[in-house]
Parts: sequence; C-alpha cells; structure tokens
Amino acid sequence: MPLYARVVTDDPTNKELDYLVPPQWESKVHIGSRVKVPLRSRNSFATVVEITGESSAPGIKTLAELVSEEPVLDSTMFRLLRWMAEYYCCSVDAAIRCALPQVIRTGGFKRERWLSVNQVPAQEILEQLAKRAPRQAEVLQVAMEQPGPIRWTDLVGLAATTDRTIKHLVNQGWLILKFENAERDPYHGEDYVRTEPLRLNSGQSGILTMVIRAIDRGETKPILLHGITGSGKTEIYLQAIQHCLDLGHGALVLVPEISLTPQTVERFKSRFPRDLIAVLHSHLSAGERHDEWHRLRRGAARVGIGARSAVFAPVQNLALIVVDEEHESSYKQEETPRYHGRDVAVVRGQMQGCAVLLGSATPSLESYHNARIGKYELARLTARVDDRQLPLIRVIDLRQEFDRNKHHSILSRRLATAVEDRLQKGEQSILFLNRRGFASSLLCAKCGFVCECANCSIPLTFHLAENRLKCHLCGYQAVAPKKCPSCSDSAIRYSGYGTEKVVELVQKVFPTARISRMDADSMSRKDAYRQTLGAFRSGKIDILIGTQMIAKGLDFPNVTLVGIINADIGLHIPDFRAGERTFQLLTQVAGRAGRGETPGEVFVQTATPFSPSIQFARHHDFDGFWEQESEFRQRCDYPPFNHLVLIRVRSEHQRRAEFTAETVHRRVGEKIDSTVILHPPVPAQIERIKGFYRYQILLRTRAITKLSRTIKEVIDALSFPEDVQVSVDVDPYQLL
Ligand code: ADP
Ligand code: ZN
Repeated sequence: MPLYARVVTDDPTNKELDYLVPPQWESKVHIGSRVKVPLRSRNSFATVVEITGESSAPGIKTLAELVSEEPVLDSTMFRLLRWMAEYYCCSVDAAIRCALPQVIRTGGFKRERWLSVNQVPAQEILEQLAKRAPRQAEVLQVAMEQPGPIRWTDLVGLAATTDRTIKHLVNQGWLILKFENAERDPYHGEDYVRTEPLRLNSGQSGILTMVIRAIDRGETKPILLHGITGSGKTEIYLQAIQHCLDLGHGALVLVPEISLTPQTVERFKSRFPRDLIAVLHSHLSAGERHDEWHRLRRGAARVGIGARSAVFAPVQNLALIVVDEEHESSYKQEETPRYHGRDVAVVRGQMQGCAVLLGSATPSLESYHNARIGKYELARLTARVDDRQLPLIRVIDLRQEFDRNKHHSILSRRLATAVEDRLQKGEQSILFLNRRGFASSLLCAKCGFVCECANCSIPLTFHLAENRLKCHLCGYQAVAPKKCPSCSDSAIRYSGYGTEKVVELVQKVFPTARISRMDADSMSRKDAYRQTLGAFRSGKIDILIGTQMIAKGLDFPNVTLVGIINADIGLHIPDFRAGERTFQLLTQVAGRAGRGETPGEVFVQTATPFSPSIQFARHHDFDGFWEQESEFRQRCDYPPFNHLVLIRVRSEHQRRAEFTAETVHRRVGEKIDSTVILHPPVPAQIERIKGFYRYQILLRTRAITKLSRTIKEVIDALSFPEDVQVSVDVDPYQLL
C-alpha cells in the first residue's frame, strides 16, 4: 500500500499538499519530519503534517529528499502553530517558519572543519614523507607553522593544496580533524559561582507552594504573579524550576530581551548545572543555535531561556513556562506572524498541560483583567525582600523650573542638588531619558522649516558624536546644515534633547563626576553593555545616563537616586496604551533605586505633574492606576474589554495604498455583523516610513477568532497590485 505525506511547504502555497513516500523512506518519514518536495519547477523545503494511506490529489509527485529523520515538531506544536495561524491571521507555513530556527528548518549547516598537527614528527620521518609524498610534506609543514589549529579551508588556501591531499594527511594521522562545535561552549568560558536556594519569606513560599501544586497537577490555568520590584519574584521562578528538574521535567523561561537582561539570565545560569540550561538568543551562530536547540530536543538540556521566539523551544516534558516581565511590549513580534510571546505561552501551556507563571511588578491591563475575571490565578507580593522600603518618589513640575533654572528644563535645581549629594556620599545615580541623540530636531526659527527624513514623515535627530542627522525609523543619515535649507537663514536651531545632550550638560555641572551613557548608540559595540554594567557595579561610574536600556531588571545596591529627566516623552502621544506604558516605565525605573541597605529616592520631572500615570506611579498605587485606566478602556471600547485588529496597507504609491485600503475596507464591511466595529481607512499617524505610504483600518470585536477568519477569507480572495502590501495585526501594540 502506498504511503503519502501531507506537507506544508516553506514557500507560501496556502494549502497542504500530498506527496508519495518512496518505499525506502516509509519507516523514516513521520509527522514533523522535514523534507524537500518538488513544487512548481524546483524543490521546496516542507514539513510533514500528516501521514496517510490514501490521497485523492491528481498527478501526485514523490518526495525529493529527507532533510531530517527526527521530527522537528510534535503534534502539540502543530496544534499550537495551527492555532497561531488562525488567531493571528497568518498562514501555517509562516507560523512554522517563525517557530523553527532557519538552521533547523534546512536540516543543519556546514560545520567548519579545523585541523591541528597530531605531534610534531621527528625530522627523519618528515624526510621520509617528503620523499614519498612531497606535496603532503609541504602541506604538513605549513600546518606545523601555525600557532594553533587552522580551518581546513584556510589550509587549502595557505598551502595551495587540495582537499584530497589534506584528507590523506588526516587519514594517516598526521593531522587531527575536529568539527567547529565539537568543543564549543555557548558560555564562552564565563564562570559562574553556583548559588544556593535562598530561604523564602512567607509571602514567597506561599506562592511557590501554589506554583508547585500547579506543576504537580498539570494545572494549566496561568498564575499571574504581581510582585513589586525587588519582592523576590525571580527567586520563586528559580525554585519552581528546581522542582521541575527534581521531577525529571523541563521548564521554559521567557525574558523580554536577552541582551538587556543579563543579570536575570546570569541568575538562572548560576543556579543550575550549566549543561542543563540552553540559552537561545539572537547572537548565536547558526552552529550554536543548532546545538542549543538539539540539546533541548534530545532532553540533554532541560531548561530553555530566551526571548520571545524561545516560546517555541523544544523543551521535553515541559512542566512550567515562566514569562518574566509579562507586560513588556517586546513580547509582541512586529512582523508577520505578529504574535505575542506571552499569549502563545499561555496557549502552549494549555495544549501541553503544563503550568504557566506570568510575573511582573506592573502587570499589563490584559493580564490583570484576566486575573480579575478568573481566567488567571492572581498571586501577590506586596513587600520588598527584607522589608526594604520602596523609594520615595518626588514629582518636579518643570513649568516652574523653566523660569528659574539656567539649564532650562533638563536638570532641575532639586534634581541637581540630589545628584550632588550622592556624589559627595559616594553613592550612585541613574538618570533616565527615553530619547537618544543630542537634539530631537533641527528647526528654523525664521521660516519654521524642520529637517525631515527623506523616506519617513518624521524629523531627523541630531547626533553629536557622529555630527550627523539620523532617522530613528529607517537609519537615513544626512549632514547637519549650517543654514536653513529652505530660507537660507542661519537661525536654524537644535530643539528638543536626547541622552547625548543630558550627558554633556550633567558633565558641565559636575565636571569631576564619572559619567557613562547607555543607549543603542553608545552600546552598539559588542560587549559594551556588559563592560559598562561591570564598571557601574564596581563603582567606577558615578552617574549612569540612559534610555530604557537601563530601566529593566538591573539590581545595583549602591544606586540610591534615580532621576527621570522627562516623564512626558511617550505620554502625550495618540496611543491608548501611552498612559499604561508611562506608568510601567516610571515604576520600573523607580524600582532601580534603593535595592541595597540605603533607601532610594526618585525624582520625576514633568510638565504635566497631575496626569494619572505619574500620580499613581508616584504613590506606588497599581490598583488605583488599574481602576482609573480600566474605566477609560471600558468607556472607549479598548482592550482588555475588546480585541483590536489593525489591517495595514502600504505602498510606495500613495494612491494605490489608499485605494487598496478602501477596497479591503469595503469587502470586510460586507462580511461582518454588528458585533464588529469597523473604522474607516485612514493614513497612519506616521504617514510614511522607509518610503512607503501607510494606511490602516482599525476593527474592534469581542469574538476575535471569528473576525480573524473573516479577514483572512477576504484578503485571500483579493489580489493586490504587486507593489501594495497588506498585513493584519491582531492585538496590535504599535498603532502609529
Ligand atoms: P524581583 O524579581 O521581584 O525584582 P528579586 O528576585 O530580584 O526580585 O529579589 C531582589 C533581591 O532580593 C535579590 O538580590 C535577591 O537575591 C534577594 N532575595 C530574593 N528572595 C530573597 C529571600 N527570600 N531572602 C533573602 N534575599 C532574597
Ligand atoms: Zn527615515
């Protein structure tokens, strides 16, 4: 009886296709196997989703190649990916591409071959070889001159020789062949002092008991751990994972961004035997990624740690998924498929029958809502470890400072005095401003001209270090003009300020202070982040000035002062989450202060001191914020009371983008019922990015899966001009 493999190809086809399995592979092809199949005029990578004894497909072709015998996806993962495709309105092949690292999809990579000299042979033996095989002797000579192992390919070049000659040398034992990753250590020789579990306080141990119960019973109802900054959430994660390991099970930990949470990752690495941990991050080479993935797949490593996409990691016997800082918007992927890592984690937990623990000091409105309506279990830690005080937060009204202060509104007198005080006491300060560069725009005071990006409808930022104007959306750069490009007047001025400017000013005010800047520009060099943090930790830096890079997960006991230079950035923008983000950011940044013995102090500078996000953050009043914010969300039909869907249309031709948006709008309008609110197509807030004109259509509904299905049907049935792209964003985070 013939056997057929039903596959999803990596090339988008939008349907599952059947292929005949050749008899010699019948025992080797499984659900989840990677194969190559003839498609149109070439071979395409594909994933087997079903094995069947019959197929009604006409003109069936035969599988071309077996890429991996071991299945790379199991049936639960398939269910998860199918759910994802349906919910996020994408194709199954897009979901598969996103869940599997490329190196796994394509069945591996070329491991680099390294050669080293076995033993330096005696002279006479070398001479014998030179007589018998002069070419080999020459090549061996070249290899012996190397200070250490050499790449096979390099030796071919260096000795002007062939693979064959080298192969002879290897076969005869002159050279030793090793594969690049044979002794690769993903920890790069980092050394960790193993830490022991801490004695939990009563709040912590109550919650640990709850999590352990969920693990033991395979209770999939997510637990939302709302614990203030420094309340010891991470210690609970660690001990819950230890429990999984004791049972022989596995666990998965999601963190917002690996590179920005080195301290958190370190704490996981130093608690467990290092070979049990696999860290998945974007800086791994293909080979490392391959190895880490397979260590998990084989069950050799049992704890996977990584950012968003690690939610798909092949942890065996998965018993617990931890999502740290569950409110972080970096869990949302901003390209197709636009999934949310936390939400996928919750669904994976359900499908896999494992416990899910979501932690945050500032839970998202969505998760907190789910806890209130009983979809999630709520656990709370309301005190810091050892009853350390939460920092005192003072609000400084910049409108009053503006007249009095010669530095204008960047560094208020009170904040300056507080910094001075810390400098004298040998304590450290953090100054936070969520804007890079020196000046946020270049503006002509005479005619009002603003230097804008050539490709995007936003102003260019001036960067002092490079002396250039830069676009923060597309990277476009230009020389800063001395005169107004429009009216030629020399009245052109910098306006607005970023971290570079703050550093310059603070250095002027405190000439002897040791200051470091930490933002995407200053940290572009590899390892700069770790080095700066190390210097800060060891007290070589007095004042650290930075963007959101310094807002997260850092724990420095000697930091007693945090200054938020301008809390209004990000608050007064047309995004319904602006208030929530500001509240979270202020709370998180403030949480960096007073983590040691000395209590911390926080200054928040703002021109709108009475906005609710600032006031509630000031009083550490999450519940107050939640009540006010959820009332606003409910009144305006925003999440968590409704789902949003954003259909985006973009094209280099404005008219075509607009026309397509109108067509999609009309077609969707014909298919929906009164439970869906459909808004008219409008130009996006930022009308042009990277040369593309952008239009968008917003929809609201309570029945999201149904709407996703409808939209997919409409879009699949339409054919768009080649230069127009339409994408669907379910539960969008970026609305601009
Ligand atoms: P969170 O993750 O809630 O911000 P952490 O887990 O980072 O809090 O804990 C803050 C600090 O308190 C860390 O330095 C941690 O080692 C320490 N800590 C946590 N739990 C305990 C405990 N039970 N006893 C003593 N110290 C603890
Ligand atoms: Zn641009």
